[in-house]
Amino acid sequence: MKNPRVAAKALLDWYGASRRELPWRKTRDPWRVLVSEVMLQQTRVAAVIPYYERFLERYPKAEDLAVAPEAEFLAMWAGLGYYARARNLQRAARKIAEMGRFPASYEEIRELPGVGDYTAAAIASICYGQPHAVLDGNVVRVLSRVTAERGDAAASSVRVRLKELAQRMLDAKRAGDFNQAMMELGATVCLPKGPQCLLCPWRDECKGLAEGIQEELPVKLSRREPVKLAVELCVMVKEGKVLLRQRGAAETRLAGFWELPEVRVLPEAVRGEMLGTFKHSITRHDYTVEVWRAAPAKAPKGFRWFEWGELAGLPLTTMSRKALEMAPEYPQA
Ligand code: SF4
Repeated sequence: MKNPRVAAKALLDWYGASRRELPWRKTRDPWRVLVSEVMLQQTRVAAVIPYYERFLERYPKAEDLAVAPEAEFLAMWAGLGYYARARNLQRAARKIAEMGRFPASYEEIRELPGVGDYTAAAIASICYGQPHAVLDGNVVRVLSRVTAERGDAAASSVRVRLKELAQRMLDAKRAGDFNQAMMELGATVCLPKGPQCLLCPWRDECKGLAEGIQEELPVKLSRREPVKLAVELCVMVKEGKVLLRQRGAAETRLAGFWELPEVRVLPEAVRGEMLGTFKHSITRHDYTVEVWRAAPAKAPKGFRWFEWGELAGLPLTTMSRKALEMAPEYPQA
């Protein structure tokens, strides 16, 4: 990049004219920005907006989440996935409540549970104007293309190089806007597939575009193939109640959530009609899910019968909620 400061100015001008109005851009309240950043990890903006609004209506301050029962806030998070994020957010809220204030420097913010370099830099720059450049997947993609970076984007040497470039470009007087502009460019113009180079403020200096390799970047040598799995779930109903199993506290994923039992864990259950099938993906696992009705059997330990009306307020796995929606008894919204 010939002149990082000139490039930064072009980016900020573009951002001023093209930015999307998003709810978390209307505030500098660090609690709200933290909630938005945590929700946006691995999740699309459009999916996050209703969750963000409902969550902050219930927990407008960190102190409110700090004392919330786990089942309640997990139920509010259900559908967003990656539930460790919600639990870490409560741990962060408790720490903020103990401190009696939101931490006000990058180093202090970085100490909050579940907060990494990226989130700390985003909050420090957006809420406190501190000059810390962010490096997330969007920024890595944009900078890899602009500089025609051919190294593996997962390699620490490449990430250090890109972070240094982002830091050199950062306009210290507008650190928050600069970081958001970089992320916005990656999210709306420099797309993973089909970058919109004609609309890009950096089209004249993008080396990747000049060399015609923009779509091959960033290089991801360690990309792994998805794992395909088949699951059979059973909907067992007795006296107007449906049988669910609670995932144990030691489970690495979705601990404490309720789910439909798999057919294989209830060998004595008699299988009835098939209610349907659907596809469901969790990280790199692609599931084909079959949903079966089964005749009532005795509930083993860790299982419970629930009224259909209770399901709305329950932390239910998304896969099970999709499966339950196939049963005619499931209450329609
Ligand atoms: S010119 Fe194209 S490839 Fe280069 S940064 Fe802009 S959108 Fe991305």
